[in-house]
Amino acid sequence: MKDVIYISHYVSRTHVLGPYERSAFWVQGCPFNCDGCLSPEMRGVGGTAFDCRALAAELLSAGTEGVTISGGEPFAQAGAAARVIASMRERADRGLIVYTGYTYEELSRAGDADVAALLAATDILVDGRYRIDLDDGRPYRGSSNQRVLRLSDRYDSVFDSYYNTPGGRRVEIDLGPGRVTLTGVPSAAALKVWEKMRSIGGTLAQIAP
Ligand code: SF4
Repeated sequence: MKDVIYISHYVSRTHVLGPYERSAFWVQGCPFNCDGCLSPEMRGVGGTAFDCRALAAELLSAGTEGVTISGGEPFAQAGAAARVIASMRERADRGLIVYTGYTYEELSRAGDADVAALLAATDILVDGRYRIDLDDGRPYRGSSNQRVLRLSDRYDSVFDSYYNTPGGRRVEIDLGPGRVTLTGVPSAAALKVWEKMRSIGGTLAQIAP
């Protein structure tokens, strides 16, 4: 597994990327080109290089229940992402949710050890390419073809109350030095507000593949 991961950014705490309070990071780079992608700046190569153990330590220090990985495409750097999670779990029990543009079936038959390692570490997988024509406004996923798959029983007790409670999409907007980030799957109204903010210098951190 690689010891360096290239990410767009991370947040220490969020409540809109899965149950409980979570930390999250966004992998830089994506092989897909979904029409309507809300994270176009995360598709290309680049980003910030982090030592996997250093990123793990930074995320651990937040003391959250777990981590959510989005992008970009997490499985494009599967080995490094798996290394981050393994490093965290050497020191503490942490859950893992991954948003990916691949389907579970595509990942399962990939025949790649790094992909298999990240998949094996994942408790919940939100899978599939974003389909703008199937964007139904439901929370926690970008379009209706995407599935929220339980790959372990870690979140069974809170799954329905979190994912199946009626309600709209929620986002968080964080203001930092020279940077504005949006976390969560935005509604059409939230997206309009965000695009105005981005036009004056924000950086999109939208999570839905
Ligand atoms: S929506 Fe997600 S999977 Fe699709 S191109 Fe954008 S980052 Fe990649």
